[in-house]
Amino acid sequence: MTTRDDCLALDAADPLAPFRAEFDLPEGVIYLDGNSLGALPRATGPRLQAVVAQEWGRDLIRSWNTAGWIDAPARVGGKIAGLVGARPHEVTAADSTSANLFKLVAGALSLRPGRRTILSEPGNFPTDLYVIQGLAALLGQGVRLKTVPADELVAAIDEDVAVVVLTEVHYKTGRRWPMKAVTAAAHAAGALMLWDLSHSAGAVAVDLNSADADLAVGCGYKYLNGGPGAPAFLFVAERHQAAIRSPLTGWMGHADPFAFVDAYAPAPGVRRQLCGTPPILGLSALEVGVDLHLRAPLAALEAKGKRLGDLFIELVEARCGFAGLTLASPRDAAGRGSHVSFAHADGYAMMQALIARGVIGDFRAPDILRFGFTPLYVGYADVWDAVEILRDVLETRAYDQEDYRRVSAVT
Ligand SMILES: *Cc1c(COP(=O)(O)O)cnc(C)c1O
Repeated sequence: MTTRDDCLALDAADPLAPFRAEFDLPEGVIYLDGNSLGALPRATGPRLQAVVAQEWGRDLIRSWNTAGWIDAPARVGGKIAGLVGARPHEVTAADSTSANLFKLVAGALSLRPGRRTILSEPGNFPTDLYVIQGLAALLGQGVRLKTVPADELVAAIDEDVAVVVLTEVHYKTGRRWPMKAVTAAAHAAGALMLWDLSHSAGAVAVDLNSADADLAVGCGYKYLNGGPGAPAFLFVAERHQAAIRSPLTGWMGHADPFAFVDAYAPAPGVRRQLCGTPPILGLSALEVGVDLHLRAPLAALEAKGKRLGDLFIELVEARCGFAGLTLASPRDAAGRGSHVSFAHADGYAMMQALIARGVIGDFRAPDILRFGFTPLYVGYADVWDAVEILRDVLETRAYDQEDYRRVSAVT
């Protein structure tokens, strides 16, 4: 049985432990929600201050050239490429994950003319399914979203499937798809493979190129610590870049935006996936988070996330076994990302009571308590302490109060 001293020893030997000091986390909080909104890096405030005061305030519109604003999507995207196993010119930072998904699924359909099915799984992250539903309604002509449960999904990739759209690490359960095998299965049926990396990038060692992935999207405000509503990113494998078109043919994706001609002509490479003017404040904050990640070896991040998750499962089962929490994540860390979920009918109230005690995780309807173990700033003793507080909340039934049952707009 692991003790708190064991956890302190693990922290002392942890090569990633020094990264904790790079984040501005409040006293008395154990933050287990970096998979939903990453914590604030200490360098972000000063960086934004400089962008606002000097680049915007003093240098004004000249900064598009002199401060490299116009290159920010490519520059930040190129850095993110290093975190997802892509080449720098295959990734750009742009828009939201939802909008990027719309562009790339539409592009995938145009690369596979005659095929009408977009295949995903039921219970995928809602925006992924909603965006595909909206695109199918817009396109008509029999284009449709088909959802098939995970265990039957690969067998359902047939000659009508244009693109398979899956979230590598499931937002609720943390279950991780085997990227290489599923991509190969899609290719064997002539389909393209699009991965949503929102719960992967910055937490696990994603390797898009070695998996031979075609397309990917991902989120900037989760493990990448880009701040609330940060720009997202998208990946188009080099082999598709010349043929794929964006349905959102804005001027920033034009071959020559400042020629101001009437006729649209796509930019070469991944830049054609840009639409409107890049959000410089958001990209500047995102770049700070990405730069931090680039200093941490991906394999070390993934290994620590798994160990934290294993430790959490072990301690919850050993110390909170009386409370009837059911593990809702894969027990085997190899099949899991960096978060762990437990199910309980009173999960919402339990999570509110935990948050009131400074242990911040989140709740996902209908019954999931979700705990994210961000390897850059969560330590082993944090996990111990969080479980101790959870045990107390459960044992004293502190969650059993009206206050904790009132559901907020954002859970
Ligand atoms: C968080 C998340 C998103 C977020 O999309 P937004 O457009 O930023 O709201 C999309 N997909 C998945 C799988 C996510 O986890």
